[in-house]
Amino acid sequence: MSKEISTIPLVKVAMPPREVLLPALEAVLYSGMISEGEYVYRFEDRFAEMFKLNNVLATSSGTAALHLAMLLSGVEAGHEVITTSMTAEPTNTTILQMGAIPVFADVDPLTGNLSPVAVEAAITNRTRAICVVHYAGYPARLNELREIADRHDLALIEDCAHALGAEYNGQPIGSIGDYAIYSFQAIKHMTTVDGGLLMMKDPSQMAEARKLRWFGLAKGVPRTEVDITRVGYKYNMHNVAAVIGLKQLDGISPLLQRHYENGRYFDGVFEGVSGLSPAPVQPGVKPAYWLYTLLADDADEVERLLAARGVMASKLHRPNHLHSVFKSFAGPMPGLDEFYKRLIHIPCGWWVSDEDRARIVDTLKRG
Ligand SMILES: *Cc1c(COP(=O)(O)O)cnc(C)c1O
Repeated sequence: MSKEISTIPLVKVAMPPREVLLPALEAVLYSGMISEGEYVYRFEDRFAEMFKLNNVLATSSGTAALHLAMLLSGVEAGHEVITTSMTAEPTNTTILQMGAIPVFADVDPLTGNLSPVAVEAAITNRTRAICVVHYAGYPARLNELREIADRHDLALIEDCAHALGAEYNGQPIGSIGDYAIYSFQAIKHMTTVDGGLLMMKDPSQMAEARKLRWFGLAKGVPRTEVDITRVGYKYNMHNVAAVIGLKQLDGISPLLQRHYENGRYFDGVFEGVSGLSPAPVQPGVKPAYWLYTLLADDADEVERLLAARGVMASKLHRPNHLHSVFKSFAGPMPGLDEFYKRLIHIPCGWWVSDEDRARIVDTLKRG
């Protein structure tokens, strides 16, 4: 039993094969057109077509896309944005960057996703938006959240950074919110090294969004005539990132499919193992399983058992309200406390083979 076993990482960078990527990359790098250009627009079109979205703009990061979504939704300094603490930090640093107030609503103790009841209870007359994260790639309760947002005239922003390829009642993830953002940072399902994308429901906002992406300048208007009427940012994607994105899209379907198959496999085998329960999946919902969410009576013990067999498993994120900058905005969140205590993410992505899955399951069934 002393045979060396390979480590199974929890997250992994996906890159297209060299012979596919490098010639395309070389062509762009020496084309003389490396900034925002045709490759970016082609990437936007192909992404929108593949993931059945309208009105998309590629950006320099997911965080940039989120900032644009908040600007377009009319959030201003002093407004409140209802959000989740169970996420990666950019979801909430962006709210502070706006000068707005993050209002942390509690989450479902079984999924880590926002509880619609808690969201509704957190609404005040200063609330402008609800920011929902599909945590680890498991879609949040979008029907209820959409209905609450409509009833209170609030913008619904979907942070889909973990959820590429997920579906909700047959609808593609990101198509229910007024805005949705995606991230192409290194370890997401697909990467452009850094990059992101913004979807907006209202096509009449596209011109404003394009300007906000580029200092406030309208493209195509001569530099001597163009007028900045609202400060924008340098949030564009460039052609070099976009060509990587285009090559990623060529290979993305089998990769997303493998995340899904591994996730469904774990859902089946962990059901009924004592001390463990898989995060429940609502009927009609297809998770993206960026990470697999397992709940354990003793999460630390599960982490130790898996580590001993070369499997990297962990709680990947720190609840954001534990950071000093967010502490003063947080109240009691018993749902989050319970979720975080029992949470252990296990590897589930395209790199997890049938043998890897067997090693993980065998370790936990014996433990
Ligand atoms: C990765 C991530 C982001 C931000 O993406 P970047 O592309 O790194 O700026 C936003 N929200 C969540 C939940 C993320 O995991």
